[in-house]
Amino acid sequence: MGRIFANALIGPAAFASAALTFTGSPATAETGAPVATRTPPVSLHITRAPDNAVRAEYRLARPTTALHFAPHLDGYRARDWQTAPQEFRWVREGDDERIERVDGKPFTQLSFDIPVRYRSLEKAYAPFSPFSDGGLLVYSGHFQTCSALPCKGTEPLAITVAAQGATIGVGGKRTADTAAFVSREEGTYVYIGNAEPAATAGFLAIVDPALQPELRDHLLQSLPQSMRDFAAIYGELAITPELYVSLDPQPPAQSGLSRQGGTLPGQVFIHLYGDGWRKPFALGEVLVLDWFFAHEAAHFFQRAGTNDVIGPDSQAWIHEGGADAMAALVMQDRGDAERAYVDRRIAEARKVCAAGLAQVALNAASRAGRFDLHYQCGMLIALAIDADVRRGSGGAKGLHDVNRRFFATVRSGTPWTRASFLAAARRTGLSAPTLATITAITGQKLDDPAAQIDAMLRQAGLDQGLGQAGLDQAAP
Ligand SMILES: [Zn+2]
Repeated sequence: MGRIFANALIGPAAFASAALTFTGSPATAETGAPVATRTPPVSLHITRAPDNAVRAEYRLARPTTALHFAPHLDGYRARDWQTAPQEFRWVREGDDERIERVDGKPFTQLSFDIPVRYRSLEKAYAPFSPFSDGGLLVYSGHFQTCSALPCKGTEPLAITVAAQGATIGVGGKRTADTAAFVSREEGTYVYIGNAEPAATAGFLAIVDPALQPELRDHLLQSLPQSMRDFAAIYGELAITPELYVSLDPQPPAQSGLSRQGGTLPGQVFIHLYGDGWRKPFALGEVLVLDWFFAHEAAHFFQRAGTNDVIGPDSQAWIHEGGADAMAALVMQDRGDAERAYVDRRIAEARKVCAAGLAQVALNAASRAGRFDLHYQCGMLIALAIDADVRRGSGGAKGLHDVNRRFFATVRSGTPWTRASFLAAARRTGLSAPTLATITAITGQKLDDPAAQIDAMLRQAGLDQGLGQAGLDQAAP
């Protein structure tokens, strides 16, 4: 393949507008001092390319010998970002990677053709979520780059997007044909397509038009319901989140009801990529989607006003398990089917958490490739806190009160840590024995995790619903 140059859709004006938005530090801008606009060291122009691909063109203000990317995404870029192989090559740099010319010479321009395919990446956002009507979401974060080391992958990148005849949605705005923005920190999903947002109070919702109508209607109620439930407890959010539900146009065979989703600041997204989503199924089979939305809605309330400061991966049980517990608490009030579903998840979490902690300490789980334990164990911990505080207060207080106190301390500058979370729990009334057990479970490798988890649940009074048989099975 030859080297690819600028697409006809790229206009110099569109490109310059991105450069203009790339200003000095926000602090400078807020104090009203003159803000010097400058050409960014690297900028990116994204256009749609033939054969269901996008073209990504990097332009550099000064010649450079390499573009650095972090992390390496297990070789995703090297596999899917197609450029002239005889001219450029990818080189691993520890957990990161760089692209450079084979002859080592500097360059000022580099283009890739990238197929728009759903890819499930380990602990990273999917690069694209295709919609069945030809629309797509592009994740900007994987494009963030540096022309010199060190490179964290969170460096701001001026991006322009051009797609003639399409709407481009980014940063809560929708524009026709072109858009310019600066991707920063963890990046954002950019929508390119022609779907009209659904009329849903409080949301800008793009839901795949090929979704079965019952499911579509259900989803358009489910997320707002969770948002209302949490707003009643934690107060209204200051933002109008975007909701994206995409249905893969080419689902892999035998993939059932597969899905992947998450949140970024101001966005909730879920990609449905199994062939099962196109076959008849009962809504009772997809309570997992209600759970997903409740979990993601919980993240908005965790993050509200905290400038998205969430603690390190080693303490992810606080926000991931905490969001699962918040989901459990609001869902079990909705009906019998939901309550039974929540009970099943708690019983399952107990098994998975006990077996997992027999292998690895919770605070080392992420490094050991067991990030999932933060959900399972973290939910049990948060629900134990809820039950314990509830019992101690005669039902007057629970996890939500612990959270309100914790979020308030984080908003006022306390770091989002295990110590500050457990301090908030203690001040809300968490009993000393349950606190001691949670401190052990979250701080060290356990000799007998099943027994210690069951002790935590029993101390909190949460073991009733699980049945004594279940407890005995797991205990030695
Ligand atoms: Zn989460």
